[in-house]
Amino acid sequence: EGTIHRISAGQVILDLPSAVKELVENSLDAGATSIEIALKDYGEEWFQVIDNGCGISPDNFKVLALKHHTSKLANFPDLQNLTTFGFRGEALSSLCSLGNLTVETRTKNESVATHLTFGHSGLLTAERKTARQIGTTITVKKLFSNLPVRSKEFSRNIRKEYGKLISLLNAYALIAKGVRLVCTNTTGKNVKSVVLKTQGSGSLKDNIITVFGMNTFSCLEPLSISISDSCKVDGFLSKPGQGSGRNLGDRQYLYVNGRPVDMPKVSKLLNELYKGANSRQYPITIMNFTVPTEACDVNVTPDKRKIFLSDENSMLHALREGLLHIYSPNNA
Ligand code: ADP
Ligand code: MG
Repeated sequence: EGTIHRISAGQVILDLPSAVKELVENSLDAGATSIEIALKDYGEEWFQVIDNGCGISPDNFKVLALKHHTSKLANFPDLQNLTTFGFRGEALSSLCSLGNLTVETRTKNESVATHLTFGHSGLLTAERKTARQIGTTITVKKLFSNLPVRSKEFSRNIRKEYGKLISLLNAYALIAKGVRLVCTNTTGKNVKSVVLKTQGSGSLKDNIITVFGMNTFSCLEPLSISISDSCKVDGFLSKPGQGSGRNLGDRQYLYVNGRPVDMPKVSKLLNELYKGANSRQYPITIMNFTVPTEACDVNVTPDKRKIFLSDENSMLHALREGLLHIYSPNNA
């Protein structure tokens, strides 16, 4: 069981960013308005997500990290709802099998918090009382230490994974309204630095200015395209010729119903159209697709990053028409 579980867990949690993404999504699902991501040695030693969400009730302690345990089907009857991305109950069980998981949590019904330790199989191995405000802290130590080859690779690539993680956290910082985000990294002899900090109060515009600065914001123009009766895209896109010289879409942030996703076909379309508009640059974009929860069948790859919408081709067609209009010379 152990080996099979570890292998499949390795597919849900591919790297540091996908591990932290799961935890941040859980905090958002728990209604947190403040989320801190703390890293030790860029996440190699441990990482922690601290939130002020609803907390976990004691009935769930034992089953919390078992595969396919989720509280979300009961809590969210309209579960097609994309706002809860994690409903498969795989993240905590995967993290357990790949590293050392501890949880500190308290709901509004408890006067003290509980500290929980889980074994690699997802079983609760220790439980004690501790002090904490309402909310949850999840700590993962030594990610991938159970997979020797992956573990070496993790150490070797840690700076790269950290870079991808910061970009992912930027994605949340851009879109989150009313959620305060902080990321800290502690290196060497406890030198702690704040690598990202947002108040999360503003509009998308304010968030863009906070994350990327006024210079970047001034290269952008607002965009709003109706894709169908029930589906639309809103956001910002760089004006022709004012994109990013760096490739790899390092400033392309795509969302579905406010959650960061990779949409490979959309990125490809954007890059093509932008080049077609006589630019050697790559577009900077922050684009949120609003799709109805029931009409939209969302397929995600096992790591839940790449996302494909139902009827994606007609969506892409409408998007292309809308973007061509923006980029057409008469309109410039
Ligand atoms: P899923 O998110 O798919 O339900 P996870 O493995 O990510 O599965 O989490 C399992 C369960 O743990 C969740 O359904 C939720 O009840 C609880 N949980 C995890 N993280 C938090 C958190 N930060 N705040 C409150 N509950 C949480
Ligand atoms: Mg989850």
